[in-house]
Amino acid sequence: MSKKEPHHSRGWTPVRRGKIYCSPMCGGKCTYRDYQRAVKDAAKLAKRLGPKWKPHMWDNLGWHWQVMYFTHGVLRASIWRGYGGHYHASIGGVYTAHATTPEAALYAALKELDASIAVQYETCSALHALPCMKLLVRNEVGSKTH
Ligand SMILES: [Zn+2]
Repeated sequence: MSKKEPHHSRGWTPVRRGKIYCSPMCGGKCTYRDYQRAVKDAAKLAKRLGPKWKPHMWDNLGWHWQVMYFTHGVLRASIWRGYGGHYHASIGGVYTAHATTPEAALYAALKELDASIAVQYETCSALHALPCMKLLVRNEVGSKTH
C-alpha cells in the first residue's frame, strides 16, 4: 500500500478491539496506543508547519503518519519522520529529500524541483519545442519587468 494514497477502500478501516486498533486488510494487530502516538506526532508536525498541513494516519503492519499539503484537491507535498528521526519530504511523489528538520527537508525537495524545472526549460529552449512556448514567452515577459 502506497503511503501517498489514503486508502478509503473497504477492509482498510481500522477496527478497535481492546488494545488492538487495526484494519482487517492489515491484520498486523496494530495497537491503539501506537495509533494515538501517530495522531499526536502528526498533529505536532502539522501545527509546526502551518494550517495548510493536514495529518494523515494509516495502519500497515504498524501505525504510520505523514502531513500532507493539498491545493485544489491535489497533493502538492508531504512530510514524515523516518527511522532515526530524520524528516522526509516529497513533492508530487517525484522530488524527495531528507534532513534533520522538516523545513530543511522540504527546502531540499524544492531545490530538486527547481533544478528539474531549469533543465526542462533548457531542453524546451534547445528544441524550440512548441508546447513550451507559453513558458518561454512568460519568462521573457517576466524578465523585462525586472
Ligand atoms: Zn494494522
